[in-house]
Amino acid sequence: MIMNDFKAREFDVIVVGGGGSGLRAAHTLSQSGLKVAVVSKVFPLRSHTVSAQGGINAALGNYGDDQWQWHMYDTVVGSDFLGDQDAIELMCKEAPETIIELEHMGLPFSRNEDGTIYQRSFGGQTLNFGQEVAHRTCCAQDRTGHALLHTLYQQNVAVATNFLNEWFAIDLVVDANGSVAGVSAIEMATGEIVFLKATATVLATGGGGQIFQSNTNAHICTGDGMAMVFRQNIGLQDMEMWQFHPTGLLGSGILISEGTRGEGGYLLNSNGERFMCDYAPHLKDLSCRDVVARCSMTEIREGRGCGPDKDHVLLKLSHLDPEVFIEKLPGITQIAMTYVGVDPRKDPIPVVPTCHYSMGGIPCNYHGQVLTVDHDGKDRKVPGLFAIGECANVSVHGANRLGANSLLDLVVLGRACGRYLQENIQSFTAVNPSHSDIERAFSRCKNLKKPSQGIDAVKLRKEMKKIMQEDFGVFREHASMEKGLKRLEVLRTMSKKITIRDQSAIFNTEMFNALELQNLIEVAYATAIAAFSRQESRGAHSRVDYPDRDDKKWLKHSIANADGTIQKRSVSKQTKFTAPIETALREH
Ligand SMILES: Cc1cc2nc3c(=O)[nH]c(=O)nc-3n(C[C@H](O)[C@H](O)[C@H](O)COP(=O)(O)OP(=O)(O)OC[C@H]3O[C@@H](n4cnc5c(N)ncnc54)[C@H](O)[C@@H]3O)c2cc1C
Repeated sequence: MIMNDFKAREFDVIVVGGGGSGLRAAHTLSQSGLKVAVVSKVFPLRSHTVSAQGGINAALGNYGDDQWQWHMYDTVVGSDFLGDQDAIELMCKEAPETIIELEHMGLPFSRNEDGTIYQRSFGGQTLNFGQEVAHRTCCAQDRTGHALLHTLYQQNVAVATNFLNEWFAIDLVVDANGSVAGVSAIEMATGEIVFLKATATVLATGGGGQIFQSNTNAHICTGDGMAMVFRQNIGLQDMEMWQFHPTGLLGSGILISEGTRGEGGYLLNSNGERFMCDYAPHLKDLSCRDVVARCSMTEIREGRGCGPDKDHVLLKLSHLDPEVFIEKLPGITQIAMTYVGVDPRKDPIPVVPTCHYSMGGIPCNYHGQVLTVDHDGKDRKVPGLFAIGECANVSVHGANRLGANSLLDLVVLGRACGRYLQENIQSFTAVNPSHSDIERAFSRCKNLKKPSQGIDAVKLRKEMKKIMQEDFGVFREHASMEKGLKRLEVLRTMSKKITIRDQSAIFNTEMFNALELQNLIEVAYATAIAAFSRQESRGAHSRVDYPDRDDKKWLKHSIANADGTIQKRSVSKQTKFTAPIETALREH
């Protein structure tokens, strides 16, 4: 159909993103009879969720007593207290039933001898409020994301979800009152731009780890949804919180799952010392990721790194039972042999802390409703706009995500958003954007086709990644961040002047690279201003010049705005389940 002179298609709900979170929400929505479209720039089964290895947490108690309250406690502590406790409560409480639901959908979980779901140990997961290591992580070997994504895709096919595969969402279409009416999107094969109109738009576009030089993320993780929101002057939350995973493969950054340490692997320095025993005698190599990443970096910085350049540490697995490599870690064994020529059954794997996950993102509540902070400091919901998955900040991970809590976040909060919309969408007011509202959302592509302004996009991307890695990596301090931020501001201005050589309308990878680069630079800028402003160390944000946590000033979410300003939002502690957690936390 044509709407205000633009080609348009109309749905009840558009879900931008075909990863775990998008597919989980879409399934609930389609099942309820709504007309739903999943829009994905890659075929959904190639979404980044497919690469998740280690597993998904739930207090099933398959090895003796386990309780969701203990899982919640671990998540609050792991978040370095920046997580919103109402959302964490929902996630941990609903985890066991969500796993059983996935099992019934057909997810082929690894099993124990007695047929129950196998559960491995993962960092930061404990029993009885920190007393001992828990076995809480359900998995399908070391290919859990692959199994999850395939299961959810099949379930969506069964309920007739519409798929717009290899469609690239450009920008939100927003009317004069700030209500969201859908997105502008390019059908990649033809180059045609279409207005995808919807009563509700759900962003499920994943993370943006490609802002860093070394990362475990796929090339498609370019923070597109976060940038779309940022461009609408909706601030992004806790963007300084990027998780560095302790075991990225040296060189490529490919992830070596925490499941390796869950199965009994450990880290060594160049003296052959198991250094985590000194830093964290209690949880050792299964401490939270931010802790292990900092310890590894400290070993490297203090000259105890391995190899000729002393630039990495070693992950030892050769002492594990040979069956573990076949049954539990087949993918990891293959990755180590293919990419660094190391057989982990015989030799240790060279690893280094590598950017892995974005805790920050689009601020929303646990229904997925996107929030913005008004001038008077009050939260306001953005009509018609929702966010779930890694692009969202609910915040269930606070300043540091626990391993295997992201897949859980996708399915619990994806479903919660689906349920909210299913129950409430009838009461939403229809939004009818004007010609200029729609035109604005189409304008980025037009601008790329202007005569060349001499900006080298490849160089720009390289420089941005280098700045982020060097000035906003594992350790941060005022002077280098200030320098990095100044240069990023220049790159940001340049990114708006990028043009593409090939002006044709058909399939054009140069155009998508340019659109993604502009998105990356917005995400990098939001990260930089938030990191520069937070004057404390908390979770993944480690300031050499402010080494302590400062609860008085900074037990707050940061909101990074596109005009460079920073606002703060209170952390939610409104949970009915406060007493045992509060007592345990006081003792922590
Ligand atoms: C190597 C690796 C291993 C991991 N292992 C685990 C694990 O064991 N357990 C765990 O809990 N977590 C793990 N994680 C984290 C977890 O996998 C991710 O956080 C999660 O899968 C993200 O899911 P998502 O639905 O938010 O987005 P994704 O799966 O990244 O999907 C994003 C979707 O958005 C689409 N999209 C993006 N931009 C656009 C656009 N402009 N237009 C149209 N479509 C767009 C993409 O095509 C894609 O379909 C791992 C992460 C990595 C990197």
